Amino acid sequence: MISVATAKQIINSHSKTLSTIERPILQALGYALAQTIVSPIQFPAFRQSSMDGYAIYYVEKEKTLLIQDALPAGTSQQLTLENGMAIRVYTGGPIPDGADCVVQKEYVNLINQSIQIQSDRIVQLGDHIREKGSDLEKNTVLIEAGTVLRPAHIGLLASAGITQVPVIQKPSVAILITGNELVQPGMPLTFGKVYDSNAFSIQAHLQQLGIVNITVQYVNDNLNETFTKIAALVTQFDVLILTGGVSVGDFDFVPAACEKAGITPHFHKVKQRPGKPLFFGTRENRLVFGLPGNPAAVLSCLYQYVLPTIEQMSGTQTIRSATARLKAPFKKTIPLTQFLKGYYESGEVTVLPAQASYQLSALGKANCWIELDEEWTFIAAQQEVKIYLFI
Ligand code: AMP
Ligand code: MG
Repeated sequence: MISVATAKQIINSHSKTLSTIERPILQALGYALAQTIVSPIQFPAFRQSSMDGYAIYYVEKEKTLLIQDALPAGTSQQLTLENGMAIRVYTGGPIPDGADCVVQKEYVNLINQSIQIQSDRIVQLGDHIREKGSDLEKNTVLIEAGTVLRPAHIGLLASAGITQVPVIQKPSVAILITGNELVQPGMPLTFGKVYDSNAFSIQAHLQQLGIVNITVQYVNDNLNETFTKIAALVTQFDVLILTGGVSVGDFDFVPAACEKAGITPHFHKVKQRPGKPLFFGTRENRLVFGLPGNPAAVLSCLYQYVLPTIEQMSGTQTIRSATARLKAPFKKTIPLTQFLKGYYESGEVTVLPAQASYQLSALGKANCWIELDEEWTFIAAQQEVKIYLFI
């Protein structure tokens, strides 16, 4: 049996960042930028007013100035300011050539077709003029490669007139749920059955990571049926996630079915709880995770292995780990890395009750996994532990 760290290393050595694809900016949200984007234009692209007012020659600020013309936002007219005159300008509209100062509308008295700046107003050279290129010069960096695009980035790209960007692809994922005991939520729960929650939990997590190409299939605990499904899915999807049937019980066919489907096993069983029976294999560049069926084990394996791998392939980093102080002492009785459902707040983390891998009640409140190292036996209050925050 291997350690958590070794399991992570093995998975890492088999996963690669996916290739680049051009996507329209709105559909690039949540993707990692594959190349640094430089601005194809200057910001602002022309001398712009930042106020509603009058463009003037600063040296003429004490004179009565005749209104020469108006330049509303959006006008394509290019004017030169004449001496002894002022031009009406608007926020975001162009500044006439020559003008070196904008006086806001409220600072002037309008007399017929002329203006006079109120004597108590302070007016300075360059007031309310956004110089061409003062925000960003052409060909300077807009967004660095590797940045995961957030809504503000999408707006920034649009400001530069960019319609599509190269991003790192996200993997396609197949989920294969095994178990004769499973019933779909919404159907009556007859004796001996349990509702399938793994398909939902996995899909919801994948959705949070922006994975769109997801398929979910079900299979009974039967070697041949399991083999047939795995063999088909492993050739069609970048990642195959199985749940259940991965231990050593009489009805656990996943490892055997994987081998039969030409998947090379890299490990089976990790020194951890929950999630000890975890299986990992590959076929060519396709990754196969065989997760135990217990929903809590599925969740801990998602946070430790599956989601970080999908993020590595996609160039994103949504899953975050941190350190926190354990609120109360904890006696650890198992010689395995232990993951506990925790509640994190203001630097402190509480171990929630009901930690057995079949127990789910704590998930209503939990907001993280707490990791306790393999060799630890007692963790004192206020000791620092590693946590993985739920997404
Ligand atoms: P297994 O790993 O197949 O032995 O399953 C371990 C435990 O997890 C059993 O109690 C199963 O009933 C339960 N289980 C397996 N698959 C699911 C699922 N998709 N949803 C909820 N519980 C499951
Ligand atoms: Mg099962």
